[in-house]
Amino acid sequence: MTESTADGTRLLGLFGNPVGHSISPLFMNFALDRLGLNCVYTAFRIRRDEIEQAVGSLRVLGFRGVNVTIPFKRAVIPHLNTIDDDAQKIGAVNCIVNDNGSLTGYNTDHIGFIKPLLDRGIQAMGKRALVIGSGGAARGVLYALIRAQVKKISVINRTRERAESLVHWCREKLGFSAVSYAGDSEDALDERACDLIVNTTPVGMYPNTDSAPLSKGFSFHTGQTVYDLIYNPRKTMLLRRAESQGVTAINGFEMLILQGLYSLVRWFPQLEENILSLKGPVIEYLQNRPEDFSADR
Ligand code: NAP
Repeated sequence: MTESTADGTRLLGLFGNPVGHSISPLFMNFALDRLGLNCVYTAFRIRRDEIEQAVGSLRVLGFRGVNVTIPFKRAVIPHLNTIDDDAQKIGAVNCIVNDNGSLTGYNTDHIGFIKPLLDRGIQAMGKRALVIGSGGAARGVLYALIRAQVKKISVINRTRERAESLVHWCREKLGFSAVSYAGDSEDALDERACDLIVNTTPVGMYPNTDSAPLSKGFSFHTGQTVYDLIYNPRKTMLLRRAESQGVTAINGFEMLILQGLYSLVRWFPQLEENILSLKGPVIEYLQNRPEDFSADR
């Protein structure tokens, strides 16, 4: 492993703005320690007009790589040497690998999203999905669902234009035509006509924990799965309502951890098996640190 610093420590990090709330440094450094790697993972708040220099600094300082979060997942792309096929299609990079000055962009968000479903034996193949929201996270979710051979996707979103742009992207770039915009609420939907409901909006996130992206009267049905990308709180109002009606509920906590572990796999591919075995220990570690991962984060 090439060294970044005089004492041999290799640098890794997170580029975003804001990043102060991020728990990535906490669990990524825990994972690096468990792997016995002499690396340090730090969050960097990058000014919007300095993203090009920040990416260039990865080469100068010999970083092994960084994660990228809001608002730079698209903005970093022109400054990379190459971009892998998944990230290219999604149009967003959340992980950069530095191979001796050559920077490659990857997207591990979509794997982080689909894996918790697969781990529970829930297949997207042949299912009808309802996706709430049309932002950056929704793109990764739709990409993962389409790759997993979902049958049909309905999108609801507050802003029509943004949803229509997402639908257009699915049809034109991903070649998936069984996708449509269903309006700005669930009113026009047949509630029984979706097997998987995914919330990709921040509605219900701390501190607005009393809100939900589906109305109180929405009736869930047996066999449905409700997946909320929010991880703070662990049980959003949406998930609490779903669970109270006997429906499988998944939060965004595992997704967050898995996108990080799959980034580590990109940086240290020879350690893939060891890295992926850390999912349980990382979850346990964070659960035992309520002061670092509390309700107000
Ligand atoms: P984004 O690009 O800003 O998109 C946000 C989406 O939510 C947009 O479609 C927006 O609608 C909608 N929205 C925002 N506020 C709303 C409101 N008050 N009422 C109705 N709709 C609203 O954000 P993003 O990157 O997609 O992230 C969205 C959420 O996913 C965040 O909560 C984030 O924490 C979570 N996330 C979790 C993970 C994970 O690892 N678990 C990863 C990525 C994201 P408009 O189009 O109308 O603006």
